Formats: sequence, C-alpha cells, structure tokens
Amino acid sequence: MAYDFDLYVIGAGSGGVRAARFAAGFGAKVAVAESRYLGGTCVNVGCVPKKLLVYGAHFAEDFEQASGFGWSLDEAQFDWATLIANKDREINRLNGIYRNLLVNSGVTLHEGHAKIVDPHQVEINGKRFTARNILIATGGWPQIPEIPGHEHAISSNQAFFLKELPKRVLVVGGGYIAVEFAGIFHGLGAETTLLYRGELFLRGFDGSVRKHLQEELTKRGMDLQFNADIERIDKQADGSLKVTLKDGRQLEADCVFYATGRRPMLDNLGLENTGVKLDKKGFVEVDELYQTAEPSILALGDVIGRVQLTPVALAEGMAVARRLFKPEQYRPVDYKMIPTAVFSLPNIGTVGLTEEEAREAGHEVQIFESRFRPMKLTLTECQERTLMKLVVDARTDKVLGCHMVGPDAGEIVQGLAIALKAGATKRDFDETIGVHPTAAEEFVTMRTPVAG
Ligand code: FAD
Ligand code: NDP
Repeated sequence: MAYDFDLYVIGAGSGGVRAARFAAGFGAKVAVAESRYLGGTCVNVGCVPKKLLVYGAHFAEDFEQASGFGWSLDEAQFDWATLIANKDREINRLNGIYRNLLVNSGVTLHEGHAKIVDPHQVEINGKRFTARNILIATGGWPQIPEIPGHEHAISSNQAFFLKELPKRVLVVGGGYIAVEFAGIFHGLGAETTLLYRGELFLRGFDGSVRKHLQEELTKRGMDLQFNADIERIDKQADGSLKVTLKDGRQLEADCVFYATGRRPMLDNLGLENTGVKLDKKGFVEVDELYQTAEPSILALGDVIGRVQLTPVALAEGMAVARRLFKPEQYRPVDYKMIPTAVFSLPNIGTVGLTEEEAREAGHEVQIFESRFRPMKLTLTECQERTLMKLVVDARTDKVLGCHMVGPDAGEIVQGLAIALKAGATKRDFDETIGVHPTAAEEFVTMRTPVAG
C-alpha cells in the first residue's frame, strides 16, 4: 500500500524534531504535527526559558559581590516584566528557527492536535493522513496532586508567564524543577519557601551533594522545610493563599508553585485505536528499539518516561531515524553515564554513580572530596563553599562518578563526562595537568581519599 508519509511524527519537541529532520535527511517522506509550540517543552516552557530566568536571578549575587572588587552601584532594581518580555522575544525567535529547521529539511509541518485513528492513520484539523510508521513524541505535562484548593496552585507552565513576581512563594517538591525555581524566585527577591515531603530533597543525587546544597541554600536565607506536605490551599479575601500543612501548621503565600513530577501527554491521542500498551506508571511502553506493542508505532522522549532530559530525547530521536531509514548507521542510545545539571544557585553538576549507588552495586569505593571557598569570593563577604567529589572503584581505579555543587558545575561536568565515558581512572585524573587558577582544577588535584 502507498502511504502519504513514511513517518508521521506527533509532537515537534526535542525528540520529535530530531527524529523528523534526520529521517527526512535520510530521504524519508516525513510529516510532523504540533499542537502548541514548535520546539516543545524545552524551548517554550522548559530548559531554555528556565536558564534565562536563572541567569536573571544570578545577577543579584553578582551585584552584591561587586563591591569587594571596588565597584559601587546605586541600589539595584529588578523588573520582572522586562525579564519576561525579553525571554518571550527570545523564545519567539527560537520558534522561528525550529520552523525553518523543519521546513528546510523537507519535513511537512501540520499545526494542530493530532489523533491516531488506526495503526497507520492520523487525523489532524479534520484531515486524515496515512503513514507506514507513526512516532509518538508528545512529551509530558506537569502533575499536581488533587488536594483541596489545588486549582489555586500553579505549575512551571504558568510560572514562565506570571504578570508579576510574587512577594511570597511556596514551592512544593524536591526535584529538579522545585529546586531550580526556588532558586529563581529567591534570587529575584521573593520570600521563598521550599516544601518537600521527604527527609532531604533531590532523592537519587549523591548524599554529599544533597546535604551541601541544603547548607548553601539555608546560608542564602531560603526557607527549606522538609518532611512537610500540603493538605489544603484556601484563597483569602485579599487574594493571598492560606496553606494548611498535613501536620496542622499554616503558612501564607502569594503563589503556590507545584513541581511534583510530570505525567505523559496522551490526552485525546487515540491510543485506544491501537494496540499500544502503557507501563505501570502510565508511560508508553517500548522495547529497546522504541517499538510499542503496535508494530507500526514507535515512541520516544518524555512520553516513555525513561530519562526526562532533552539530550536524551535528541539521542533517541536520532536512534529512531537511523534505525528506520539508515540502519547501517544505527547505534543504540547508551543510558549509562548521562551527565546532568540542576541549575540551582549554586549549580549541581553530576555524572556517573553516586557514592550510595556505587556501594549498592558492590563496588569497593574510595571517596575523594574537596570543599573550598572559590577564589572569586575571597574579596567578598560571601561565605559560599564549593563541593567536588569523586567516587572511585578501589580495585580497578576507575572513576565511577563525579559530583559538584558550585558555580558553573554544569559546564565543568560536561568534560568530565567524556573522561568517564572513555573509562578514565583516578590515575588519569591525577596525571592530568590542571588549568590554573580555576575551580575545575580541583578535580585533578584531590589526592587523599576521605573514605574507603
Ligand atoms: P516535548 O519537548 O515535551 O515535546 C512534545 C511536543 O508534543 C510538545 O510541543 C506538545 O505540544 C506536542 N504534542 C503533544 N500532544 C500532541 C498531539 N496530540 N498533537 C500534536 N502535538 C502534540 N531537560 C534538560 O535536559 N535540561 C534542562 O535544563 C531542563 N529543564 C527543564 C525545565 C522545565 C521547567 C521542564 C518542564 C523540563 C525541563 N527539561 C530539561 C526536560 C526537557 O524539557 C524534556 O525532557 C524534553 O523537552 C522532552 O522532549 P520530548 O520531545 O519528549 O517532548
Ligand atoms: P522530579 O521527578 O524530578 O521531582 C518530583 C518531586 O516531587 C520529587 O521530589 C517528589 O518527591 C515530589 N513529589 C512527587 N509527587 C508528590 C506528591 N504527590 N506530593 C508531594 N511531593 C511529590 O520532577 P520535576 O517535576 O522536578 O521535573 C520533571 C523532570 O524534568 C525531571 O525529573 C527531569 O528529568 C526534567 N528536568 C530536568 C532539568 C535539568 O536537566 N536541569 C530541569 C527541570 C526538569 P519524592 O522524591 O519523595 O518522590
């Protein structure tokens, strides 16, 4: 049978665009459907605008520290509306770039909500198109628990478009988004409380990293409340929010921001018309080739719920395009040693195993750790300390994990990720000459293990 398209991609986000462009580049006839915004979550309500707001928030400490270097500034003023308007302009520019990328690579763009009507057919804007393969790349959506008054809370989707900076913000959650946005609001001058239901936030990150960030955020005056969860939210006559915690305490805020994870975006996608199966958490189930239970349908990115990061969605998009249309170039995505950063203030950068994971996996470990006051701060009042940590296998000398909390940790860890991927040993680190004077050189000068 002749199909309208070889590949019909649903979702022009990180993974969908990558798969569509490369498939078209390999000579396939490709369409991509997008219902909201070109570039998906990352470009519109994720990585990119978030990082711009983090840069914005970082200026507060730069201004504070400048006096130590002889600068005097009149009292610095911040205008939220300007930051948001400039951010919106940049995102519009990126939307245009994504449109050009798709169109110039020969992909047919359909703007609207796509629904799968049978394993080889998609309906969009009242028209139907057939395809040999359909790729579900519809991403995720914020998930707010349905407590009484949850409708008064916002998620990251709304946070990027607030008309003004709230005076008092309560951030709920202890993952990437909660920690990053608490840093943004706090840095920009809002009274910020971070509420997390467990003992210590950032579950899954290295224990030293989690504790170090807790100490640094507390030093900066952020109110961290762990073992705390919300029972209900009530809107008061003056528009402010009264928040009742499960332990009976009450807090007041102007904005309650939930960052409690993301669900797969499957709304009105028509999966009931296919044999696609979902896993226990509701994400689309795929095998190692991103194949769903329906032979003609594939899925990748956040909607499969593996690793919800843009570079992972990109790698999966590339793998799918190659497997379908350039099998001789196919290489599976390697999910080991994925570096990642949390753009909190200060940043976290991490790659490889945490100390806890290494011990759990049965490695005999050696731990190297360094905490120091970065040189840039020596002329200032700021008492912030940087943490660097190496987890080493004592038997093979292989470096299993690198972890950092401090300025530019995300930038620094990218290079370390290459070393770890190439199998670097602690001896390789020791024999690498440092770049002086930098903070990063500490990673090659740690000599004495702190724990074995
Ligand atoms: P998405 O980028 O979400 O794209 C899915 C697209 O499908 C969307 O555009 C959606 O509108 C469209 N769509 C959905 N249903 C339909 C339909 N039926 N028809 C047509 N179109 C449809 N990752 C990082 O690596 N670094 C970061 O710093 C980072 N920061 C983040 C900050 C925030 C606040 C958030 C929310 C996420 C962040 N992420 C970050 C995660 C990253 O954004 C995602 O992992 C990535 O966007 C996933 O790509 P995707 O292609 O799977 O889905
Ligand atoms: P995460 O899964 O990272 O964190 C969710 C947090 O919410 C956890 O602390 C979790 O607690 C808590 N939580 C979950 N359910 C509830 C509930 N019902 N009540 C109270 N607390 C709850 O999700 P995020 O929303 O922060 O981010 C989604 C994903 O997006 C991330 O996992 C990451 O992959 C990606 N992302 C990446 C970024 C980056 O690379 N810098 C930045 C932002 C997002 P517990 O730990 O106890 O389960």
